[in-house]
Amino acid sequence: MASNNATATATVDATNKCNGSLNSPDLLEQPARKIIKQQPQQDYHLEPELQDGLSCNDLFKNGEGLTYNDFLILPGFINFAAEEVDLSSPLTKAITLRAPLVSSPMDTVTESEMAIAMALCGGIGIIHHNCTPEYQALEVHKVKKYKHGFMRDPSVMSPTNTVGDVLEARRKNGFTGYPVTENGKLGGKLLGMVTSRDIDFREYNPEILLSEVMTKDLVTAPNGITLPMANAILEKSKKGKLPIVNQSGELVAMIARTDLKKARSYPNASKDSNKQLLVGAAIGTRNEDKARLQLLVANGVDVIILDSSQGNSIYQIEMVKYIKQTYPDLQVIGGNVVTRAQAKNLIEAGVDGLRVGMGSGSICITQEVMACGCPQATAVYQVSTFAKQFGVPVIADGGIQSIGHIVKALALGASAVMMGSLLAGTSEAPGEYFFSDGVRLKKYRGMGSLEAMERGDGKGAAMSRYYHNEMDKMKVAQGVSGSIADKGSVLRYLPYLECGLQHSCQDIGANSVSILRQMIYNGQLRFMKRTHSAQLEGNVHGLFSYEKRLF
Ligand code: GDP
Ligand code: 5GP
Repeated sequence: MASNNATATATVDATNKCNGSLNSPDLLEQPARKIIKQQPQQDYHLEPELQDGLSCNDLFKNGEGLTYNDFLILPGFINFAAEEVDLSSPLTKAITLRAPLVSSPMDTVTESEMAIAMALCGGIGIIHHNCTPEYQALEVHKVKKYKHGFMRDPSVMSPTNTVGDVLEARRKNGFTGYPVTENGKLGGKLLGMVTSRDIDFREYNPEILLSEVMTKDLVTAPNGITLPMANAILEKSKKGKLPIVNQSGELVAMIARTDLKKARSYPNASKDSNKQLLVGAAIGTRNEDKARLQLLVANGVDVIILDSSQGNSIYQIEMVKYIKQTYPDLQVIGGNVVTRAQAKNLIEAGVDGLRVGMGSGSICITQEVMACGCPQATAVYQVSTFAKQFGVPVIADGGIQSIGHIVKALALGASAVMMGSLLAGTSEAPGEYFFSDGVRLKKYRGMGSLEAMERGDGKGAAMSRYYHNEMDKMKVAQGVSGSIADKGSVLRYLPYLECGLQHSCQDIGANSVSILRQMIYNGQLRFMKRTHSAQLEGNVHGLFSYEKRLF
């Protein structure tokens, strides 16, 4: 029996470099996910007569197009605890994530709130570009400026605003604490605070100016204060809000006691060397996207995704070269691709990562309308195996419906998965909840749906991933628009996904995602095809009724 002597130390080191959060003084201490130095695992490289199932290569050998549901991974040997499984995995050549999870650049999935939550939990969010360059850059800016517990863009009033304005803002925003600055903006000189206590008895006269009712005797804190220190000040002063001011007395941020009370630490957060959260953004491959890119870079974007449904084009190749020449330190992910020939062109152009998937998304009708695409499991395996020779990580994009699908994507060679529907419907996804037949829902739509291509919600021009020319007389939809049930906060959902991933890796006998990937190529990972009846057997069956609660 041969043993597996590989270690994952390199991956862990790389991760530490981009996760300045571990020693961050302003986080209330909580242990980071236990990263053990990967020990060589127990001998489970079996003699041929003990090898059940198929190697990955054999699974795909006859060229059939397989999806995640068409196969299973056979269990391995367990000699470690699930919580010890290291989920670190590269997103690009230079960025390693603590969790291989990426949110899709879709306008019903990723804006700053989602990107912040993804990065806090060790993944990354990619801000969509179905909006003006300014809007997208501002979303990137919000993620980069995020400081746990600090509101970096609180709503601000001016002394000439009225009690009526505060009541209206309360109705719209749901909170009543507003700092009052000279110019009514963040960055203006702080003059006072207005809270419900200042206005509740004045409702009879909404005309009264805030300069008359605001509290002027303020407790403030200096810029640079840590969360525990801010906590101590709030505790002592018994106030609900703590404005943070610079040396000139100008408002730079605010802290709410309600947030501190529910504050928890995120020791696995994805951060850059300045301890700012990592964030990505999507752009197109047109000439005007160069100006958009410049704005995004100016706001600190860490990684760019070139958002094409068929990425093997002269436009994308030229854009990759332009970006690598103009911003050599910026990471660029190309795609989408599903074949090795497509991948080859983008790798030669210089991409740092590849996004794989065509027609596998839950909202997608590309395969039906365009007759083009590839079943996702096959695409992920073929492209990952090819890209591995060049050290280019692959993101499996689309069709992820469960933890099992995430594991399967990783077990086929992907370094990370990109999710749309799995994250849509959470409170961090853009859009308002609405009720239909008593169910709380949020909109989820394909970026190639007519609705997304003709967006009219004030975020600016529609993107051109799926239609090519302003002069196009007809738009051909490649996606649908629908709704998805409320899933609560991703800050609860992502830990569930991560914990599930650890348990699954344990069953397979891989104590890290990087070892899981090594097991593909040395034949240790064993697969089995699933017949239709095997798929039925693998799901709940034979019950009169049941409730499926996942966590
Ligand atoms: P209030 O007393 O009515 O202001 O509300 P709370 O302090 O109980 O809650 C305010 C919540 O809204 C906190 O979780 C804040 O982080 C959040 N929030 C988001 N943006 C703002 C903002 O611009 N101003 C205020 N006051 N709260 C905000
Ligand atoms: P999901 O996770 O919902 O299965 O798939 C999300 C992925 O579907 C996205 O990351 C993107 O690659 C792809 N996608 C998003 N919108 C559309 C669309 O309108 N048409 C097609 N063909 N794919 C889409």
